[in-house]
Amino acid sequence: MSAFFIETITSVHHWTHRLFSFRTTRDPSFRFVNGQFVMIGLEVDGKPLLRAYSMASANHETFLEFLSIKVPEGPLTSRLQHVKIGDKLLVGRKPTGTLVHDNLVPGGRLYMFGTGTGLAPFMSLVQDPETYEKFDKVIIVHGVRDVAELAYRDLLSRDLAADETMGEFVAGKLLYYPTVTREAFEHTGRVTDLVRSKKLTDDLGLPPLSPVEDRVMLCGSPAMLAEMRQIVEGLGFEEGSANAPATFVIEKAFVEK
Ligand SMILES: Cc1cc2nc3c(=O)[nH]c(=O)nc-3n(C[C@H](O)[C@H](O)[C@H](O)COP(=O)(O)OP(=O)(O)OC[C@H]3O[C@@H](n4cnc5c(N)ncnc54)[C@H](O)[C@@H]3O)c2cc1C
Repeated sequence: MSAFFIETITSVHHWTHRLFSFRTTRDPSFRFVNGQFVMIGLEVDGKPLLRAYSMASANHETFLEFLSIKVPEGPLTSRLQHVKIGDKLLVGRKPTGTLVHDNLVPGGRLYMFGTGTGLAPFMSLVQDPETYEKFDKVIIVHGVRDVAELAYRDLLSRDLAADETMGEFVAGKLLYYPTVTREAFEHTGRVTDLVRSKKLTDDLGLPPLSPVEDRVMLCGSPAMLAEMRQIVEGLGFEEGSANAPATFVIEKAFVEK
């Protein structure tokens, strides 16, 4: 058996010159837990060229969706950004990852903090009915540089609540807080500053972050994660894992090379 599923690209959406998303077919035997990532890639010179990617679609869907950066000189994304409908994509058989419900102990509110493509694993979780069964409030915070980089903004701010299936789960529970650092917008500033100053929770009309009521998932650049870890650990949050669920979990959106 090959180490990969060979899927077919079924749609491509370019958000900006730095960001795109695409869908593929999904082998029915490919199972994953919402929030996980898997190795995906292309065959280059007869060899697989693979990188870690979070599933941005929920596991009940018949397709897979990914949200991707375009790194101009990046070995994979300099090529991947040109994929077209009908092209093939290699998808690994072993999804994994820490941003899953089971790594958190029960709590009232789930905060998902994502910057850039760090939003991707949370797109899978916000489209999972179980997320709303487990938490009374689900808060998705997305930090980007420019407004155009707020991928899935319409889905998060409007379409999910209007969706025939998801609407009843999401109603009154999902709060979306997009923030932008380089342009004027309804919310501006870095995610870390908004948490530290408590502006985020004040704007949302929620009490300050606390490990008593709140659970936190983090996905972003290594620098953002280091700062957020310091903040939440300072508030008394403890990192969870599959063996020892706790009050926050963390995953890199990419690795600096
Ligand atoms: C657990 C995990 C999950 C990931 N999930 C995703 C995902 O869902 N979507 C996605 O686009 N990437 C994701 N990545 C990053 C991805 O694996 C690749 O690094 C990315 O696709 C670029 O590949 P490349 O070969 O073109 O360049 P690389 O050689 O892999 O990267 C070159 C440089 O580009 C920068 N870079 C890489 N990825 C990003 C990014 N996502 N955002 C901003 N800068 C970046 C870094 O500075 C890196 O040093 C994930 C990484 C990890 C570790």
